[in-house]
Amino acid sequence: MSTRTETPQVKVVPKAKHSVSFKQIVVPGYEEVLHVQDPSTKLSAIISIHNTTLGPALGGTRIHPYATFEEALQDVLNLSRGMTYKSAMSDSEFGGGKSVIIANPKTEKTPELLTSFAHAVNELKGKYICAEDVGSTLEDMLHIRKTTPYVTGLPGANGSGDPSPFTAWGTFRGIQSVLQKKFGSPSVLKRKIAVQGLGHVGQELLRFLFWEGADLIVTDIDSLKIQKAEKLYGCKGVKPEDIFSIECDVFAPCAMGGAINEKTLPLLRCKAIAGCANNQIQKEEIAVKLFEKGILYAPDFVINAGGLINVIGELSKNGYHPSAPKEKTHKIFDTLMSIYEISEKNQISTQKAAISLADYRLKYGIGKRTEPLYFH
Ligand code: NAD
Repeated sequence: MSTRTETPQVKVVPKAKHSVSFKQIVVPGYEEVLHVQDPSTKLSAIISIHNTTLGPALGGTRIHPYATFEEALQDVLNLSRGMTYKSAMSDSEFGGGKSVIIANPKTEKTPELLTSFAHAVNELKGKYICAEDVGSTLEDMLHIRKTTPYVTGLPGANGSGDPSPFTAWGTFRGIQSVLQKKFGSPSVLKRKIAVQGLGHVGQELLRFLFWEGADLIVTDIDSLKIQKAEKLYGCKGVKPEDIFSIECDVFAPCAMGGAINEKTLPLLRCKAIAGCANNQIQKEEIAVKLFEKGILYAPDFVINAGGLINVIGELSKNGYHPSAPKEKTHKIFDTLMSIYEISEKNQISTQKAAISLADYRLKYGIGKRTEPLYFH
C-alpha cells in the first residue's frame, strides 16, 4: 500500500514553534493513527489516516466531548475508514482520514486549541487534510488555515463554502435511484417520502423534493423545525419516534448515525432507505436484514458524497467553481444503480456490494490521483 501519491502544491507554510507532541497508536489496517497532545492549550486529539492509496487522506475534524479516549478512538477509526470508501466511490482521487478533538465545542474550543491542532496537521505535510465536521465550523477552518494550508472547505472568495446543498442534491439523486430500481422511474412525484432530521442537509433536501411534487412526512427533535417544514412545504410532521413506522416509498435518515438498528428495523414499513446521515446502519448485519426484507438501501458513504465532492473542488488547479462538483454529484445516481445491480446479481446486501466495489478500486488503484493539489 502506498503512503504518498504526490507532493501537494503549497502556497504558504508558516514556520512556527509549537509544543505539540505525537504518540503513534498501532491499529491493524490503518496507515497511521496519532494521538496529538499539547498541554499548554489542553489539546487532546486523534488523527487517523486510514488509507492513502488513491490520494492524500481527507476528512473532517470532529470536536466532541467524548466520555473516554477509547470512545473517541473508535469514532475516528470508523469515520476515517468510511472516508476511504466514500472517496473511492466518488472518484475523488483522495484517501480516507478523519480527526477528532476531545473537547466540548461550546465551552472548550479556543483559538489556541485550534492553532495547536493546526500545527499537528501541518507536521503531517499534506498526508492528511482537514475540513469542517460536527462541532467545528467554516470559521474554525479559516483559523486553522492561518497555520497550515492543509485544510479545505473554507468560506470566502476562494472557498467552496457550505457543503450541505451538494450533499442534499446527491441525496436527492440517491432517492431517484432507489425509485428507479423499485418502480422503473426516478420521479418523486406523489411518492411518499419520510425525512428524519431537518438540519442543514434535510431542509435543503425538502426543498428539492417539494418542487418535484413528493408527498412529505417529516420529523426532528426540534419541533420548531417541523413547524417550519409544515408551513414552507406542506409536510406532515410526526414525532421523532413515529417516523420509522410510517408506510412510505422512501425513508430518508438525515439526522444522526445508527438510525437503522435492531430496535428500529422491525418497525420499518418503507420500500427503500436513502438519506444523507453517516453510519446509518448500526452494523453490517443490519444491511443483510434489509436485503432479506426487500428494503433497498442506498449505502450512506455513496449517497452522501456530494459534500466531499464539493470541498475538494477548492484544491483543483483553477480553484473552486460549482460546475465540476455539480456534474460529479449528479453521477451519484449512476454509481448507486451499478451497486444495486451487483447486489442483485450476487444476492448480497447493497452495503456489501458497495464495499466490494470500493475495495476493488483500492486494490487496483482505480481512481488514483494524477494531478497535484493546489492550496489557493
Ligand atoms: P445538522 O446538525 O444540521 O442536522 C441534523 C438534524 O437532525 C438537526 O435538525 C437535529 O435536530 C436533528 N436530529 C438529531 N437527532 C434526531 C433524532 N433522533 N430524530 C430526529 N431528528 C434528529 O446536520 P447536517 O449537516 O444536516 O447533517 C445531517 C447528517 O448528514 C449527519 O449525519 C451528517 O454527518 C451527515 N452528512 C452531512 C453532510 C453535510 O454536507 N452537511 C455531508 C455528509 C454527511
